[in-house]
Parts: sequence; C-alpha cells; structure tokens
Amino acid sequence: MLSVLDLFRVGLGPSSSHTVGPMRIANRFLREARRAGFLATAQRIEIELQGSLALTGIGHGTDKAVILGLLGFAPETAEPDDAEAAFKTAIATKTLALAGGPSFPFRPVKDILYRGDIVPDLHPNGLALRLYSSASTETPDFTRVYYSTGGGFIASARRLARPAKDDVVEDRARSPFAFGSAAELLALCEAKELAIDALILANEEDRERSETVSQIDFITDTMLACVDRGLNTDGILPGGLEVVRRAPDLYRKLKTGAGVNEREALFDWLNVYAMAVNEENAAGGRVVTAPTNGAAGILPAVLRHYCCEDDGAPIRSKAQRFLLVAGGIGLLYKQRASISGAEMGCQGEVGVACSMAAGGLAAVWGATPAQCLAAAEIGMEHNLGLTCDPVGGLVQIPCIERNAIGTVKAVNAARLALHQTGQGKVSLDQVIETMRQTGLDMSSKYKETSQGGLAVNVVEC
Ligand code: SF4
Repeated sequence: MLSVLDLFRVGLGPSSSHTVGPMRIANRFLREARRAGFLATAQRIEIELQGSLALTGIGHGTDKAVILGLLGFAPETAEPDDAEAAFKTAIATKTLALAGGPSFPFRPVKDILYRGDIVPDLHPNGLALRLYSSASTETPDFTRVYYSTGGGFIASARRLARPAKDDVVEDRARSPFAFGSAAELLALCEAKELAIDALILANEEDRERSETVSQIDFITDTMLACVDRGLNTDGILPGGLEVVRRAPDLYRKLKTGAGVNEREALFDWLNVYAMAVNEENAAGGRVVTAPTNGAAGILPAVLRHYCCEDDGAPIRSKAQRFLLVAGGIGLLYKQRASISGAEMGCQGEVGVACSMAAGGLAAVWGATPAQCLAAAEIGMEHNLGLTCDPVGGLVQIPCIERNAIGTVKAVNAARLALHQTGQGKVSLDQVIETMRQTGLDMSSKYKETSQGGLAVNVVEC
C-alpha cells in the first residue's frame, strides 16, 4: 500500500504534475547521473518536455521547475523567494550550476525542447534529460526518461512498463489491513470494528504512529498557513491573464460581517478559503497536493471551516480524522485509476479532491464507514466527465473557481450521504472505474493540453 502521506506532498505551485513532479525528476536525474559517473564531466544538458508537459509546460512553469531541480531545489524545502531569485540568476547569466556538479552555459531557447508532438505510450507527461560531456557533441553520454504521473508522483520508464501484478501498488503485504478496493476497505472496517481513520493509521505501522500523526499535523498546519497567506495577499496573478486575486477582498467583506445573516454565507466562507489556496498555488506559493496542486484548495477549505476554531486554530482530532479518511479514499483513486489531469481530465483532480473531502467530512460528522464511502461516491459521481482546459495553460481559469465549486459540492455530498439510509445504487468502486473509463475515452484536447474547451474559447489577454 502507498502511504496516505504520499498523497499530501508539500511543494511549490502551480502544478503537482507539471511543477512538483518535474522538480523531483530533476533531483533524481542528478542522483542517477552522479552514481553512473557522468555528472562531473557534464558540459551541456538537454531538457525535453513531452506531451502535456510540453503543451502546457510554459503556463504551468515546468521549465522553471526542472531548472530549479537541477540547481538543487527540492519541492518540500524550496522557499518561493529563494527559488525565484536562483531561477532569475540562471536565466540572466545563461549559466546552469548543477547541484553537486559543474556549471556550464545554458540557453533555454536551445536547451529546452517542447515536444508536444511526442505523446508517450506510458504516460502523457514525459520528460527526457540528457547530459553531454562536450558542448559540441551530438550524442548524449547519459539519458533518462521519466514520467510525472500526477500529484507529484514520478516514475521511470522501466517502472511504468512493468506489468502490474494486480490492481494494487506493490508491497501490499506490508500493510496489516491492505485493501485494493472500497469494498475491501469497508469489509475490513466492519470485520475489525475499526473506523476508516483508525484502519488507515494502523496501515502506517512501518512508521512510528506518533510520527504519522505528527506528519498529519504538519500537513494540517501547512494547509492552514496557505489559506492564511492567500486570504491576506492582494495582487494580480502571474502569467499574463491579469487575473486579480479575489480571496482577500471577499475575506475583508466577510470579516466586517456584511451579509453575515444570510444563509448563503456558508458558501462565501467555503469559497474564500478554497480560492485563497488556489490563488496562492497560481502564484507559485507553497501548497500541499490534495491530491494535486490544481485541486489543492478543496481539502484545506473544508479543513479550515469544519476542523478549526473560529480563530483558525486546528482542532487536532478532527483534522487528523478528516485527513486520514480523505487520504484513504485518495489512495483508492491513485491505485485503481489515476489522479493525473493529463490522463483523466479534471475529474481526476478536482473530482477526486471533492470525493476525498466529502468522505473525510462525513467522518468528522460521525458517519459510519459505509456512509463515508457513500459520501466519496457522491462527490465523484457528479464530477464525472469534468474536463481539463486551462486558459493560457495557466492554473487559474477555470481552476481557482472550480475548487470553490468543488468544496461546496463536497460538503453537500457529505450531507446527502449522512441522510442516506440503506445501500446506495452506485458504489465507490463503480464510480472510480467509471471515472477511469471516462478518462481513457476523453479526447486529449481535454486532458491538460489547453487544446480544447475554455482554453480555445476564451480569448487570452
Ligand atoms: S482544469 Fe482542473 S485538472 Fe486542469 S489544470 Fe485546472 S484544476 Fe488541474
């Protein structure tokens, strides 16, 4: 089993598949090149972005992420300001200083290839890196191809090409309560008389339990810090669309109490928290994949509204239950389908986040495991077919509002499930499989390529 903590990665925006994953790939490439003895003699590097990484790579900042990874920045620890300064220096000086390796001339126009015409068989987010021991030679000394498979996960060609033994990620036997489907998860909860969060926690037994819990608390704090920064940072988002940050203004209005008696104020609060995170993400700030950067606003918004005191202080027991259950549901999507917009469209990002948040919130409200899974099912059922068509290749339109809508939908899904009696007609496993099939059938125009939908119907500024 994967760990729930694998789903919640801290990194810089705006995209887990196009920013966090590529930065990790660059880190890994350097390690492999060093081990193979090719790093010290390198005089040139070629970065080839393939498929969706090429088609939306500029708007998503993939080129920058790879360069930062080569400079030694890691998604978990990179400070946005330091990273920006290092990137600007590399571009201005036309020099790349490989972490732990040599410095050499670097010209993005020549050394970064955008190969949107290459659609890799293994995954649409391909990234080839090549080292040359001479600036003039045509033949690389060291080449690796990797894939950014969504949510910050990365894989080598060898790993992806390996046929899956079953539908569960390897090392299944190491978890005491391994499950490969929602039905198995539910059966385990009932047989062991465990709530979903207790079962997920037990599955983390290869870590010290206190370590898992403290990591969950760290994720909570990072999510809430992101909400806070987004609520208090005005300005225009980068990238050229001139999108104004809306969360701070709405937050000021809500704080002064305008319209506070309106029943619909609930929507405003959920909206403002979700947009705060996604505006931070769009600005390249520090966010938590949940399960991706593009969909990073939904879980923190529910967390902030339902698992915190009025002043924003987390209520730890609620936050832990929420994230463990949401994470357990996220694992089902990761293992049985995909959380990559380039493979599934936005149903695999915002849809999955909505499903995770619905299940987690139902647990916070005291739902049974069956009701939690029903909430997750409803959260996805009404996102099926959701396309990914970011305008200008930027994670702004429709992404920011879409997280707000997804948050409200998640809360409603949890409410519906709590009032549900008996078995629903559609199971979570059925809806995950439907999402997977829908994603496979979906035209590539709607899978993070900016070649269809809003991306071609909205005129860029
Ligand atoms: S439309 Fe959805 S999947 Fe596509 S970039 Fe935006 S949030 Fe991600």
